[in-house]
Amino acid sequence: MPEGNEIHRWAARHEAAFAGKPVRVDGPQGRFTDSDVIDGRKLMRVMAVGKHLGYDFGKDRILHVHLGLQGDFTEGNGPLKPVRGALRLRMWNAQKVKLPPTEGASKRHAWYSDDDGTSDFAAEDVAWVELRGPMDCTLYTNEQWEKLLERLGPDPLNGDAPDKAFAKIAKSKKPIAALLMEQDVAAGIGNIYRAELLYRARLNPFTPGKDVPMDVLKKVWKDAGPLMRAGMQDRRIVTTLAKDRPHKKGLPLREEVHYVYRRQRKPCWVCGTDVKKMEDFYGRNLYWCPTCQA
Ligand SMILES: [Zn+2]
Repeated sequence: MPEGNEIHRWAARHEAAFAGKPVRVDGPQGRFTDSDVIDGRKLMRVMAVGKHLGYDFGKDRILHVHLGLQGDFTEGNGPLKPVRGALRLRMWNAQKVKLPPTEGASKRHAWYSDDDGTSDFAAEDVAWVELRGPMDCTLYTNEQWEKLLERLGPDPLNGDAPDKAFAKIAKSKKPIAALLMEQDVAAGIGNIYRAELLYRARLNPFTPGKDVPMDVLKKVWKDAGPLMRAGMQDRRIVTTLAKDRPHKKGLPLREEVHYVYRRQRKPCWVCGTDVKKMEDFYGRNLYWCPTCQA
């Protein structure tokens, strides 16, 4: 499941590729039936909040996309590809798709945490994107978009003030690890960042929200913005500090990028205790170090 860093990255990328120009849009699979309403219109901007994308075509028309668990974009330059699979939506620049493709021009997107961060091309060179498997891809009015924003908690990547999130956490008996994933508490934090932020704060994931000291909460929030922004630029979520890795110099190895996420039964980089995993903790797997986060 993509987290806020990835959603914000797509927003910036698609805005650089398409905004300010008329954009062609279609829905080959037949499930996005409103493509004609925005096809050929000028895209004004692309917004991101939490895990939601909003493509603002002006005149009260915002294309809302939520990738959900399965959704993903593929992008390329050069001509459009033949339609394959459950292709919900295509967006393209009519001029750019007439240009011949260049080296490495089309590639399937790989999940950030598994990505080696290489072989990408500039946003300005993107000629088309394909969207498959999203949880939602529908047209919103401005009012619907505003209602969505009201429902969502502050987003660390948008520099939102955290007060609303802190107030909800301070009132709740739910474990902090569950609260951080609730999008009406904080928007954009997913399973990787939840696990890693709690580890970096040395906070026990089962601590009830109301028992988390405010200074610790502030620390977690302060950590979240830069950490998620780094994941946006590098196309890789790295949460370990160089001093804690077995290899303290150079780029981290793939198995060194996280403290606890998907590191169950492996020794904690800091204390050597086996990292724990709990399945189906509020619907998702939870990872933590029982010693560092006692
Ligand atoms: Zn540890």
